[in-house]
This record gives sequence, C-alpha cells and structure tokens, in this order.
Amino acid sequence: MSKTFLAVGECMVEMAPTGNGTFSMGFAGDTLNTAWYARKCLPDSWNVGYLTAVGQDQVSEQMLGFLKQSGIDVDPVRRLDDRTVGLYMIQLKEGERSFAYWRSQSAARCLAADGNHLRSAIGGVDLIYFSGITLAIMSEEDRETFFAVLKEARLAGAKTAFDPNLRPRLWESADIMRACVTKAAGLCDLVMPSFEDELAYFGDTTADVSADRYLAAGAGMVVVKNGPEEVICASREDRQAFQPKPVLDIVDTTAAGDSFNAAFLAEYLTSGNVGASVDAGARLAGTVIQHRGALVDCFEAA
Ligand code: ADP
Repeated sequence: MSKTFLAVGECMVEMAPTGNGTFSMGFAGDTLNTAWYARKCLPDSWNVGYLTAVGQDQVSEQMLGFLKQSGIDVDPVRRLDDRTVGLYMIQLKEGERSFAYWRSQSAARCLAADGNHLRSAIGGVDLIYFSGITLAIMSEEDRETFFAVLKEARLAGAKTAFDPNLRPRLWESADIMRACVTKAAGLCDLVMPSFEDELAYFGDTTADVSADRYLAAGAGMVVVKNGPEEVICASREDRQAFQPKPVLDIVDTTAAGDSFNAAFLAEYLTSGNVGASVDAGARLAGTVIQHRGALVDCFEAA
C-alpha cells in the first residue's frame, strides 16, 4: 500500500532577476521546497502531496501545473474564488540578494480556514510536514483548528515533522511566534530547527540548548541544523552529533535547510536510521548550496 508525505504551507510565485533587467518566473516556498525534494528522494511507493490554498485564476493554475509536473499531488489544495497566490521578488545589489514580498492577502493564508477540508486533506496521511511559516500566515483561530487536526491525525497514527523556520516579521509579535512554535513542537515527532534562528529569537547559547528546549516542549526527536557545524539529533533517550562534510564552493544557501529536511525525512521514513538520515540530508543540502536557486535538479547527476 502506498504511503503519503503531506507538506502544508505556502507556495509563492518567485520573480528572479535574469541579469539583463528582466525577471523569470518560478515557484517556491519553504514547505514546497521540502515537498519538491521529498518527491525526488522518496521511493515511488510514497505519494507526496501539498496542502495549500490558491485562487481560480491563471497564475494559480500555473502553480498547480508546476506542482503536478513535479510529481506532487495537488488533490489536497484548497481553491478560493476571491484570492490569488502570493509573490516575491529577488533583487540583487552588488551581489547581495534582497527579497520583496506581496503575500499579505495570499490565498494560502486561508489554507486551514475550513476545518472539514483540513480534516479530509490530512486524514490518513503518514507524515505531515509543516513549518513556522505555515503557522505564521494563519489566523489565530485557524492555528487552533490546525493543532486540533494534527492531534487527531497523530492519534490515528500519523507522524508529524516541523521546521520552526522563525520569521518574526510574519507573526503578530515575537512572543506569539515563540509561544506557537513551542506549542507546535510539542505536537511533533520531529522538530528540525536551524540553530542560527534559535539563537536569534530564543537566545539559545548552543544547539544542545535548542534541542533541550524543544524536548522539554514535548518533541519526540530534535534535529538541530547549524550551517557547516555539527547536526545534533536528540531524543529523551539518546543524543548524537554528526559533522557534515565541508562544502567549499558555496554559491547560494537558499533552501539548505528545506532540502536537508526532505532528504533526512525520506531516509528516516524508509530506514529509521538517524545517522544515515543526517548523511542524506547533509549530502543533498551540500549539493543544493553549490547551485543558484531554491529548487536544484541535481538528481540525474547524483
Ligand atoms: P537553513 O537554510 O535553514 O539556515 P542551515 O544553514 O543550518 O539551514 O543548513 C542546513 C544544512 O545544510 C546543514 O545542516 C548542513 O548539512 C548544510 N550546510 C549549510 N551550510 C553549509 C556549509 N557552509 N557547509 C557545509 N554544509 C552546509
């Protein structure tokens, strides 16, 4: 019987500079990036789906077309008549990238607004993956619905994985972000933070402190990524540190964490081996950061 990996969140239109004053259009977003890489890493016996909300307009259709073409199941997607998808533009100034966003009214903000839709999209899946951004874009009421549906899904046997992906600007306040992220972590089998964010917004002094904090919140296992530094994998019973292979020619670190999470989860869901999972995550992220852009098709060559 096939299994299902369901990522939940927002996919946006990406406008990236081509170098000659024009922009090329693509699609990206943290949870979508992870779904895209998960589709590449998981065997065919796994279905990879994406739960978001889009409009009924042409660009929404194009986004769904892109997802389908990538092998991602769009059945869970909610369609809305009165909204469309969010957009961001990458700008380059003296080699430095900056981002401008148009997402405050995006359809994805309503992805959890219909409890019945949410229940039917999440019911029966094997792994639910979401991030702090997934939570940040929801209303307070929808977050509660989402948490309730997560709890039901876990009782029915689903595993849950969460990357806190701390972005205070998307939240009502930094305190609400910390409270919601801590609550979400307590509902998850796997919490996969990046230490840089945890240091900045929780004030953790080391990756072990981040791991302990999420374990205390109720997480089953915490996988703390830390750029080129050791990855810490901690549960209540066990703690291991793994050193990623050095990557020398780094071109663009976009989606390092998203791709790591995908390859880690794909290995973990199939073998259950933590060391092999970190190795898979670090190998994919190490390749992704040697290329420009979030979605790097490095699989044929690998
Ligand atoms: P995020 O993109 O969420 O900030 P990190 O920067 O912590 O994520 O990186 C995620 C993973 O990508 C790391 O655990 C590591 O495996 C790999 N990685 C990132 N930066 C480097 C680097 N400079 N050298 C080697 N591996 C890296």
